[in-house]
Amino acid sequence: MSMRYRSTRASADTPGVELGAALTAGLAADGGLYVPTELPTIELSAPTVLSDTARRWLTPFFADSSLADALPALCTEALELPLPRVAIGDHGDQVLELFHGPTAAFKDFGARFLAACLSALRQPQEPIRTILVATSGDTGAAVAGAFHRRSGFRVLILYPDGRVSARQAHQLGTYGDNIHCFRVAGSFDDCQRMVKQAFNDQPLRQQCSITSANSISLGRLLPQATYYAHACAARYAESGKASNLIIPTGNLGNALAAMLVRACGGPIDRIALASNANRVLPDLFAQRHYRGRESVATLANAMDVGDPSNYERLAWLYPGESVFRAGIEAESVSDEQIRKRIQLSYLEFGYEACPHTACALEVLARKREQGDDNSWLIAATAHPAKFETVVEPLLGRAVAPPPALAALLTKPSRSTALPAAYDALRAELVALG
Ligand SMILES: *Cc1c(COP(=O)(O)O)cnc(C)c1O
Repeated sequence: MSMRYRSTRASADTPGVELGAALTAGLAADGGLYVPTELPTIELSAPTVLSDTARRWLTPFFADSSLADALPALCTEALELPLPRVAIGDHGDQVLELFHGPTAAFKDFGARFLAACLSALRQPQEPIRTILVATSGDTGAAVAGAFHRRSGFRVLILYPDGRVSARQAHQLGTYGDNIHCFRVAGSFDDCQRMVKQAFNDQPLRQQCSITSANSISLGRLLPQATYYAHACAARYAESGKASNLIIPTGNLGNALAAMLVRACGGPIDRIALASNANRVLPDLFAQRHYRGRESVATLANAMDVGDPSNYERLAWLYPGESVFRAGIEAESVSDEQIRKRIQLSYLEFGYEACPHTACALEVLARKREQGDDNSWLIAATAHPAKFETVVEPLLGRAVAPPPALAALLTKPSRSTALPAAYDALRAELVALG
């Protein structure tokens, strides 16, 4: 069997492109997102370690591609990360901790795998490729960590000055070498607009080779599926039951990976999306109508998304009204409820949660109040020490950063100020060549 990928905007009989081409392009030429032309059925028994599950689960997605032979090495290089499940409460609930990678957020899985794939695809004579990212915090660090000192690549990060946590800002500036960090005098939306302008600037693109690493890339979506495949197969082996998931959600990349695992026959039952005050997905399910909007700022800032970029993949996987019969639900959590839940999770379970994970724990608490006695698997997306200014005052104690993050925080940090104007970014790109 061979696997091909086509745009969410292309008709179903479009032949599609090979995986390597889809990874290199990022976004499809028509502006849509790449999706597989067919969904394989993948059975996993007795999972051992994540890199092994990943190799088995991803094999059909790599079939007949330029990266097929490299797949085992890619999984070993990128996905040998710890994936603990921590039991909480007395209903068999577990927290799936996705934040034990080098930058302490789940985005390490996707960024490391994408970097390994793009390195493997690189031709020796190619000019240096610039990975251009706008970040509200976690993406930039994960991409910087994944591409640091990788030959043939440089990363240019734009983050909104004063609007990411102090630790996040420090972390972004610690890499140096081929990582160029810019603090922009503007909002995250300004950063994203500047990056989009660069991708639409054809004369610039003749001059510099720029690539995106944002959450629409297949190279991030596919590896994210592997941790759900692994954890849910392990839970199935233990209990004989499919897992119900609660996933903190912004751009819908992480949750879409779980839906993909389920669509390929993985032992997953219900999927609950936990949003912050950005209600676009809860409103979709309540009103049966999708309406993208401006984002609002919240304590769970990595989920401040008003128009999730992966929505097109949701509409592809569950066309029309079928999404409302797909065992998916979505709830919104306010900043006040995030604060309260960080405190209560600590008091009830001794569990220290970041503001994003707290949204999922709040959705779990509502289920318990409503008398639901299923067991749930809660995705924990970042280490609480990354959001210390929110978490520590609520817990009344310091939260120790994990070793990799602690090591980064002792290094000097450097960033360059940039006005929120495209011409300033363009000049930097041209100067780098
Ligand atoms: C990016 C991020 C999210 C949101 O993930 P999506 O894939 O955009 O839905 C949630 N929590 C944290 C900590 C993140 O960094």
